[in-house]
Amino acid sequence: MTRILIIEDELTIAQLERDYFEINGFDVDLCHSGTEGLKLALEGDYNLIIIDLQLPMLDGFELCRRIREAKEVPIFIVSAKKEEIDKLRAFNLGADDYITKPFSPSELVARAKAHLTRYERILRKLEPVEKNEIQIRGVHIDKDSRRVYVRNKEVLFTAREFDLLVFLASNPNRVFSKDELFERIWGMDSNGDIATVTVHIRKLREKLEADPSNPQYIETVWGAGYRFTV
Ligand code: CA
Repeated sequence: MTRILIIEDELTIAQLERDYFEINGFDVDLCHSGTEGLKLALEGDYNLIIIDLQLPMLDGFELCRRIREAKEVPIFIVSAKKEEIDKLRAFNLGADDYITKPFSPSELVARAKAHLTRYERILRKLEPVEKNEIQIRGVHIDKDSRRVYVRNKEVLFTAREFDLLVFLASNPNRVFSKDELFERIWGMDSNGDIATVTVHIRKLREKLEADPSNPQYIETVWGAGYRFTV
């Protein structure tokens, strides 16, 4: 639910705004003084705050400044003040939009929706890109840079060792036979020998395991093959 806080001392305007937002599916809180508005704005979890400029106790400019100091929430000013100087002051204090009275409630809602959509898009972009990494206990594999860290130290792997490690770690707890691993990693065109799988498993263990004779990562499943245990 998208939550809106409306801080407006003229009751008919406040109710008009609330009705339009509610019809459009928003959850609305109303308050009628600057001090009450500030308290709600700082304590509440709102998606958008709408502020009148001429308010009792604390005016809209001061309110805007104080909310902006504390929060990144979008702020709209709805005011009878039409002077450019007031608009510029509001924008300088961190307002996101400025609508003059008398206003069209439908336009106010449309502007709010457009702004919230844009805001969400920006927030999504700021989220970290999904990393192409595998982390299993003390082993950290960065697939993009083809680097492996074992217990916080970088360990060098040959290309085939790396491919084998990524394949096993990407399919944790699944058992693969030597034949399967040979086919997946070395491919049909390989002129190698299936014994190379055993050799590579041993190399992986030497590099990963604290005690290669008692492997905790790559386990041997007798008669079946190997699995990367998680
Ligand atoms: Ca007012």
